[in-house]
Amino acid sequence: MNIAKFDSRFATIAISKIVEENAITKTFIFEYPLGGLPGQFLMMWLPGIDEKPMSVAYDDGKEFWVTICKVGPFSEAMHGLKVGDRVGIRGPLGTHYEIGEGDHLVLVAGGYGAAPMYFVANQAVLMGCQVDFILGARNKDLLLYPEKILGLGENVKLHIATNDGSLGHKGFVTEVLDEVLAENGGAKGKGKINKVFTCGPEVMMKAVGDVCDKYKVKAWMSMEKYMKCGVGVCGQCALDDTGDLVCKDGPVMSFDYLRKLPEMGKYHRDGQGKKHYF
Ligand SMILES: Cc1cc2nc3c(=O)[nH]c(=O)nc-3n(C[C@H](O)[C@H](O)[C@H](O)COP(=O)(O)OP(=O)(O)OC[C@H]3O[C@@H](n4cnc5c(N)ncnc54)[C@H](O)[C@@H]3O)c2cc1C
Repeated sequence: MNIAKFDSRFATIAISKIVEENAITKTFIFEYPLGGLPGQFLMMWLPGIDEKPMSVAYDDGKEFWVTICKVGPFSEAMHGLKVGDRVGIRGPLGTHYEIGEGDHLVLVAGGYGAAPMYFVANQAVLMGCQVDFILGARNKDLLLYPEKILGLGENVKLHIATNDGSLGHKGFVTEVLDEVLAENGGAKGKGKINKVFTCGPEVMMKAVGDVCDKYKVKAWMSMEKYMKCGVGVCGQCALDDTGDLVCKDGPVMSFDYLRKLPEMGKYHRDGQGKKHYF
């Protein structure tokens, strides 16, 4: 068997640093040359507990970050780890966001989607791009990475939306996106913005895609489906009705493709394949 075809390097590595981002989210920093690209993920393994997919939040070839929100047994176990503890990783895996030299990008992030979007922004700045970064959360205490995003410099403009209005625009990220695209996007605006990338809850990403359609701007999104193997063997993350696998053909996929799927923004499947409507 040719193991290399699975495109998945395995290592057990020690945590170098842990940053508490907010009450439910921690960033784990590893001094390890993963070689991940913005949008890619890795499978993270805690022996005896589980192995779960996590996005690469930053990678400079020497160290990489993973930002984990506490939602259940695996993420709680991760939050209990200390500097020096070891975890298993396989990756980097999946597709990535395509950033072009000099692009004007809009990034729309909800929840822990801010972490991979930060990696995109970081890379985009190095490639001479302009970035409008729209960051959303339920309230100001749950906003992820605002200081890190501000630290990216003058080529990145941060827009904030909170559901309760405790910081920035009161309401949804999609309302801010509409304003930004009306000013700069596609056929109706000054036409400077050429791509929108988004990561967050699927219902939010579908709404982002719909706003992009209005301004005829192309959108790409990071799909989150239940994954087990992460390398295209088990079929758990197959999309209805195409059968395409989010772990291999995604997680970054175009809205032009996703909009045609019956499940887009409507339902997801759990580990047993049972449908749950959003
Ligand atoms: C490509 C990809 C990238 C991800 N990146 C991140 C990230 O950067 N940070 C982060 O906090 N979370 C990320 N997730 C979600 C993360 O994998 C789940 O939150 C985690 O597996 C939850 O496990 P648990 O045992 O803590 O909770 P559980 O109680 O087992 O699950 C809580 C919820 O997490 C989701 N989930 C559980 N297992 C999986 C699985 N194997 N695959 C996909 N979703 C699952 C389900 O929606 C479930 O309802 C990502 C998921 C995918 C598919």
